[in-house]
Amino acid sequence: MAALRETDSSKRDRLKELYYQIKDCKLCDLHKTRINFVFGSGNSNAPIIFVGEAPGRNEDLQGKPFVGQAGRLLDELLLFIGFNRNDVFIANVLKCRPPENRDPGVTEINTCKNYLFRQIEIINPIIICTMGRYSTQLVLDTSANISKLRGKIFKIGQSIVLPINHPAAALYTPSKLQVLREDFKKIKDIFDNYENPGAVGEITVISGLKKMDKSKTDKTRAGEARAGEATAGNARTDEARAGEAKADKYRMDEEVQVSENEYDERAAKDKNQQLGLF
Ligand code: URA
Repeated sequence: MAALRETDSSKRDRLKELYYQIKDCKLCDLHKTRINFVFGSGNSNAPIIFVGEAPGRNEDLQGKPFVGQAGRLLDELLLFIGFNRNDVFIANVLKCRPPENRDPGVTEINTCKNYLFRQIEIINPIIICTMGRYSTQLVLDTSANISKLRGKIFKIGQSIVLPINHPAAALYTPSKLQVLREDFKKIKDIFDNYENPGAVGEITVISGLKKMDKSKTDKTRAGEARAGEATAGNARTDEARAGEAKADKYRMDEEVQVSENEYDERAAKDKNQQLGLF
């Protein structure tokens, strides 16, 4: 099976390492009420990361993001553009469920944000799709309203950021569902034109996400500095991108599920299968 992107097993290892570092996090009070820490799941070489808000009840129970109604809609929308969950990576701003699904608090976001930034840094996706207000404001480092940002194309470092509405908002509102479908088409268009995303629409370049940059390791920074402008972030060169474009766009040959349940279930198995590679 052809790879969508060059496979970089070090990304899987780094995600795994991150998971083990943070899975027992007790930095905020949400750990007291959580059932599971919801790390995120998907492909460690994903070209697209989808970022939601926080786990809800089902996610807390299962230890995986977007497994409830909003998740089913997300699956449908992914399918609509020819992807499935194992092609992408799905994460949230918060890794633990706020009680009664209340909104994330500022302190909780600030406490948790580096976990997300680290995931983004490791995966180094072509597109970061922020779903809803919380992930959009965090990633773009803005307090602007999501309604002003959705559907616009931003660029931070080498990644395109596309804010869209949260799927939960579209569950009962057909007009919002239509908007969401259009935004998913835009994701696909950007993906198909990643060498020239400007062909899809005007791009607002954000001069580096300071908060995200802070989370970078010295090694990554040094590598990026050496590679200079032409090098795509975390060792993804333009050449590599071109190769990726030629590859089968909808397939991955290396996939990883990284939820706590998966880790625990597989922990006793062959080390190479521990992360749910399939
Ligand atoms: N909503 C989110 O933002 N995240 C989930 O994981 C589920 C629902």
